[in-house]
Amino acid sequence: MTPETLPTPDDLVHLRRCVELAREALDDGDEPFGSLLVDRDGAVRFEDRNRVKDGDATRHPEFEIARWAAEHLTPEERRAATVYTSGEHCAMCSAAHAWVGLGPIVYASSTTQLVGWLDEW
Ligand SMILES: [Zn+2]
Repeated sequence: MTPETLPTPDDLVHLRRCVELAREALDDGDEPFGSLLVDRDGAVRFEDRNRVKDGDATRHPEFEIARWAAEHLTPEERRAATVYTSGEHCAMCSAAHAWVGLGPIVYASSTTQLVGWLDEW
């Protein structure tokens, strides 16, 4: 979603779920990020949240989505899927997303906005 594009009602449902997952991560002592993968028919196929607190800094939900998609979806399905996420992809997850050939990314907050929320939380 570019800043010029308004989210659809479905986008908002998925983004709210991402923020719920982010909150769950935060409550569990992790960094507040949550993401989900939605297929071309609008079904949620996979969701996860940040799990880096035990020392593996690659356990970002967007990275887990890329791994899951590579294992479970055909290249065509991956291209047609949308990834919803609470915060903008980091460099590692952007690369993983591109390598496995996933479709558009819709995020609830930019990195700048997220830093503001973290201050509030
Ligand atoms: Zn990441």
